[in-house]
Amino acid sequence: MAAAICCVGAGATMQLLARSARAPWPLGLVWVLLTATVAGASVWCTHFVAILAYQAGAPVTYDPALTMASLLIVIGGCFGGFALFVRARGGAWPAVAGCVIGLTISAMHYVGMLAFRIGGVVRWRPDLVVASVLLAVGLSALALAAARSQLGTRLAGFAPALFVAAIVSLHFTGMAALQVIPLTAWSPGAEDARAALALATALMGGMIIAAGIFAHALDTITSLDASARIDAFASICDQTGLPRRPLFEKQLALLLNNPKPGQRYLIVTTKLCHLNDITDIYGDEAGDFAIRLTADRIDRARQPGFFVARTGRSEFSAIGPIGDHEDIRSRAHLWRSMLAAPMVFGEHEIFLDPRLGVACFSPDGSSAENVVQHSRLALSRARKSPLEPVCVYDETFDALAERHHVLADNLLAALDNGEFEVYYQPQVWIADRSVIGYEALLRWNHPRFGLISPNEFIPLAEQTGAIVDIGAWVLRSACREASGWPDDQRVAVNLSPLQLRQPDLPEQILDALVSGGLSPGRLEIELTESLLIDDRVSAISILGRIRALGVKLALDDFGTGYSSMDVLRHVSFDKIKLDRSFVQDIETNPQSLAILHAMLELGRSLAIPILVEGVETERQMAILQAEGCRKVQGYLTGKPAPASAIAADRTVAIGLFRHAG
Ligand code: C2E
Ligand code: CA
Ligand code: CA
Repeated sequence: MAAAICCVGAGATMQLLARSARAPWPLGLVWVLLTATVAGASVWCTHFVAILAYQAGAPVTYDPALTMASLLIVIGGCFGGFALFVRARGGAWPAVAGCVIGLTISAMHYVGMLAFRIGGVVRWRPDLVVASVLLAVGLSALALAAARSQLGTRLAGFAPALFVAAIVSLHFTGMAALQVIPLTAWSPGAEDARAALALATALMGGMIIAAGIFAHALDTITSLDASARIDAFASICDQTGLPRRPLFEKQLALLLNNPKPGQRYLIVTTKLCHLNDITDIYGDEAGDFAIRLTADRIDRARQPGFFVARTGRSEFSAIGPIGDHEDIRSRAHLWRSMLAAPMVFGEHEIFLDPRLGVACFSPDGSSAENVVQHSRLALSRARKSPLEPVCVYDETFDALAERHHVLADNLLAALDNGEFEVYYQPQVWIADRSVIGYEALLRWNHPRFGLISPNEFIPLAEQTGAIVDIGAWVLRSACREASGWPDDQRVAVNLSPLQLRQPDLPEQILDALVSGGLSPGRLEIELTESLLIDDRVSAISILGRIRALGVKLALDDFGTGYSSMDVLRHVSFDKIKLDRSFVQDIETNPQSLAILHAMLELGRSLAIPILVEGVETERQMAILQAEGCRKVQGYLTGKPAPASAIAADRTVAIGLFRHAG
């Protein structure tokens, strides 16, 4: 009985101690008092029940005052020790608090022994008395140190066992120190009375311990209940009964914080792409019906271990584990076909066109944002693609998509932030290598990605429409810059087909010329053959008005598309720029040389001067000269450089070359 009380009591004490440490001060004092009462009752009852089992070989009585005193001592001392433990911030303090507890239970034991009156001569072995106190103090100190280290996790481990050891070693070493020489003859007769006393003591102790445990349990249940109810209220969608985004995020965080080694997981996000159309056409009821039915289908398709939530109005997400060799793609397609099945609403058949974005991850090394972001990127691809309703996140593919997304977002702000700069690349006469003019080439110095090629960001600017503002800025900058150059040098500015759709483009150009102080004949607009793709009639008329200003037109990248000849028939150009693919291998490939020859011939028969782009070697230059080509642009004669660099070059070059006009 003593052993049972001791074990249960020590367990309860440590639980209550942990609860006391979590309670806000000074409410924590009440918890400390409860802990001390339970601890005191446990130690005291253990002691008395064990004493009742002790066969002294002589008649025994108990001093009531001292007996009560021993109980008060242990409760009071424990209160002090535990209060110290709860308030201490670490270091050696938990162990010090443990020493106080050890001394307290030792005091209780020996005061209890004073209350134990034996009809005989009593002798104590001092060495064992000292040993018992040292054991009690040492083990209690260890118990509380262990309790502190497990605080916040679980107290089920070593602390209660150490506390039991402290109580037990104190008691039995203490009893071994006691030697009794009976003076009166004694016969064991009052067994029943002792058993009754033991039972009563144990019951009383048990009740106190139970009261402590109940208090703790009740407290835990009510607080869990309350917070769970508040959470659940906000986080469950009442339409579908599925958790909402906050719970989904919690679940994801839980998974990432407790990784199972080697386990991989799947995150799926699905969007019902036609939901808005359905609500528009058939009304809100149809929309609600479609959402409920979809939630039902998802619930039925759910695999064990999967957590499903409604993460947006027309969006659902799921996370769950995947097997080592599982084919994610075919599983995702299976889900998609379950969700895509037509729904019958009244007399109508509804098609939702669900799109799925899937990403795999292993919890170590993934962050929640990354994981969610990946499935979103895959979903965004699935939504754009007419043929792929299910997309799995692909590092190279989607990371690039993300970069493009960021770049497209930043484009307009970049203009305000002065992140753009115009570089200039010389176009030269082959004969004396003097400069005819410069092509303006845009550069973007992105704060995160560094220098970005226009080949990457111009298409994005065209998609978002930002090219209109950016192009206008390039035009103004180029005119302003070129007005400071020698009179015979032109500036060539690239124009996107999108800019050609603005009816006021000629006025914009005039504006740039006037405010920059550049005469129209020194501006050249470079256009590619794609200019006629959309509205060719208006494009041709706008180009006519630009030409009427006196501005020159050049056909860029000639020969790379399918309609180069067609464009030449409809628009009058002042120059053709032959794409660099035509010079790349003229040194080694006779076929390429033959094509180049034909192209130059074409220019001659159309009476349009040709400039060859991308000339990189002296050998290419020599061949071009032999073929009768007169103008080139390329790394050989100058790379694109900031305006300041070409201005510096010019001061050096002055006097070396002189071009007649
Ligand atoms: P593009 O109009 O064909 O411009 C020529 C491109 O070839 C430039 O690339 C230039 O740096 C590069 N290049 C010049 N010489 C050589 C050479 O010898 N070897 C090689 N390998 N490359 C050479 P960049 O500056 O990266 O421009 C790329 C494209 O971006 C341009 O092609 C043009 O289509 C577009 N772009 C640039 N600036 C603007 C602009 O302000 N507005 C518009 N709409 N497009 C622009
Ligand atoms: Ca160009
Ligand atoms: Ca070009």
